[in-house]
Amino acid sequence: MVQKVAVIGAGISGLTSIKACLDEGLEPTCFESSHDIGGLWRFKDNLEPGRASLYSSVIINSSKERMAFSDFPPPAEFPNNMHPSELLQYLHLYVQAFELSPHIRVQTSVVSVRQTADFAETGRWEVETERRDGQRDTGVFDAVMVCTGHFTQPHLPLSDFPGIESFEGKYFHSWEYRNAEGLQGKRVVVIGIGSAGGDISADISRVAEKVYLCTRRGAWVVSRVGQGGLPMDMIGRSRMEKMLQLLFPSWRAGMLEKNTNKALDHGLYGLKPKHRIFEQTVVNDYLPSRIISGRVQMKLNVKEFCGSSVVLVDGSTIDKVDVVVFATGYKYSVPFLPPDQQPKCGGRLRLYKHVFPPAMAKPTLAVVGFVHSVGPITPMAEMQARWATRVFKGLANVPSEEMMLEEIKKDTAAMQQRYACAERNPIEVDFIPYLDSLAERVGVRPNILWLLLTDPRLALQVLLGPCTSYQYRLTGPSQWAGARQAILTQWERVRRPFRTRVVPEPEARLGIVERVSGAALLCCCAAAVMNNFAPLFCQPGTTEVL
Ligand code: FAD
Repeated sequence: MVQKVAVIGAGISGLTSIKACLDEGLEPTCFESSHDIGGLWRFKDNLEPGRASLYSSVIINSSKERMAFSDFPPPAEFPNNMHPSELLQYLHLYVQAFELSPHIRVQTSVVSVRQTADFAETGRWEVETERRDGQRDTGVFDAVMVCTGHFTQPHLPLSDFPGIESFEGKYFHSWEYRNAEGLQGKRVVVIGIGSAGGDISADISRVAEKVYLCTRRGAWVVSRVGQGGLPMDMIGRSRMEKMLQLLFPSWRAGMLEKNTNKALDHGLYGLKPKHRIFEQTVVNDYLPSRIISGRVQMKLNVKEFCGSSVVLVDGSTIDKVDVVVFATGYKYSVPFLPPDQQPKCGGRLRLYKHVFPPAMAKPTLAVVGFVHSVGPITPMAEMQARWATRVFKGLANVPSEEMMLEEIKKDTAAMQQRYACAERNPIEVDFIPYLDSLAERVGVRPNILWLLLTDPRLALQVLLGPCTSYQYRLTGPSQWAGARQAILTQWERVRRPFRTRVVPEPEARLGIVERVSGAALLCCCAAAVMNNFAPLFCQPGTTEVL
């Protein structure tokens, strides 16, 4: 019987894993190599190999209600798109509220995880740790949760860039970028327009002579600030919208692309990507203004380097380049998996539902937080942890090795078909379908049809409002009595931080629920039925449901 669980890492994934263990009556011990909790979001002055790093200008893309743990809404007064220090504060509040501290051993690195000799019968692991003072210990645990983060190993594809060895300037990976110090007056080339490439280009362009942002694919650039100034990711991220996307992908993509181009003509700005908008977007509020002011110039992909020049694929050159920043992403591999479990499947980590390695005699090792989507990581890591702890306890199952491998193959194919970046981003998932598929296994997937019959006000919020994590605490194991209220008050918490200069409102603003007309109500009923009979609307080639 699983009892003692080793949790490796005390970032978002590790903290929610400790909480999930406690909810299931397990005994977690969390090992954190640094001196405090928070992982990536605790800004460090020095780079530490093997750890994620932040640049000082970073602002979180996900808004606070979307980033929230499902039973712990963020303080109402916190800004919607928090600074890392505020997110760190939120994590400390979470630790305090659920008394997680006694289970965390800081300054203790896990150096190895090995199956015990009797693993086939017991599923146990020997976990070797090393404290900051060099003291080593080995403990035996019934299960292990690997929560070590996935932005830790920079991908620097130098062999794709002939001539780089003789480049006369300086180059480095975006992982090393902290701020624009030392780049004043320089001519800088940034390669890659993911989140980091966009952010770093805009940041450097405040001080550099010129920044050239080179991209192979282009990107859909969207703002954090949505319609009416509300957080972009709180709008159009509902179950209803997801359903429309799945049923009419081309029509929905076309509409969204049209609206996005109304705000920012991607062709005019040289951003226009080859892929559709649902495949990949980049959140960036500053890049358009840096382009319009000429501080950043969009360029084609780099073909090669020649002296201090950068030659682009169309034969044109950028001369006298001082610095090149490779914003070329990260390599994904999970530490502590036995070597035979490491190989990838079509570029993707070979993990069932991105959590369990398939070929294990006992499912007692889970990976938490090795996943990416247009939605925030918190609800996904939390749901993974809730599922994993129930599997450890024998309250939920994983299928046979063959079935897991088959499903991994199918998921991978579907994701590669869907997402432009699937090759480079093999941990991409569809936010709501992924959460729902795990929630189904945990027994906490909201039943919207039932809600419509019993609590229509809540049902409409669940269906038409943003898919916030509180939805997964309404029923089932570890249900939270405050979940309903958290959903009904989420927009109040969104509005509160704006009230720093209160202006009289002409009339009370109508909430989303009040704005729903009778006709929309009918649509909701239909949608709820569809949602409940989700298998009818399975993605072609996947077993994921709406
Ligand atoms: P981490 O935060 O990396 O934590 C891992 C922890 O494990 C660390 O504390 C580390 O010290 C510890 N550790 C590692 N190895 C060991 C070991 N051997 N022994 C003991 N401890 C160990 N996500 C979003 O949802 N929204 C965003 O807006 C967003 N913006 C981002 C912006 C940037 C610039 C980056 C890089 C990432 C962003 N992310 C965002 C993704 C981000 O990775 C997650 O939000 C989150 O930090 C992941 O948490 P984690 O706990 O999985 O990993």
